Amino acid sequence: MTGENVAVGDFFGELKGRDGHIVYREPPRELQMYWERGVHNETDGSRSYPVLITCDFRFWLNPKGEALSEQHQLAILTALRRWLGAQGARSSIDLPDNVSEESINCVWRDCRNHRLRGYYYCRQHFDLSCLANIR
Ligand SMILES: [Zn+2]
Repeated sequence: MTGENVAVGDFFGELKGRDGHIVYREPPRELQMYWERGVHNETDGSRSYPVLITCDFRFWLNPKGEALSEQHQLAILTALRRWLGAQGARSSIDLPDNVSEESINCVWRDCRNHRLRGYYYCRQHFDLSCLANIR
């Protein structure tokens, strides 16, 4: 990772109701992401309502069509996770509670990192898999 893996913008939006949008701004640039409320059955029989979020950060909404680098997208993902966490929201992009590794390799092509316990990907590729349409 390089030193540019830092998002400098702010998020705007409320996680109320069934769905909505979150706006991310790095003035004058702007991104918009859609979220909806999911239902998750916990192992103890209770239910939680995580935020299911589509992280399509390939292009700015404004200026329309300007591309973001993969590093920049990952930085926004990390910042978004923190923002959601600060609001007490669980989400589809949360890191696993247990980030220990298994001694089996990640399934990403040519990746030799160990995968996260219970997952197919290593930590790095888990993050990439959270981003829409990066393959
Ligand atoms: Zn990997």
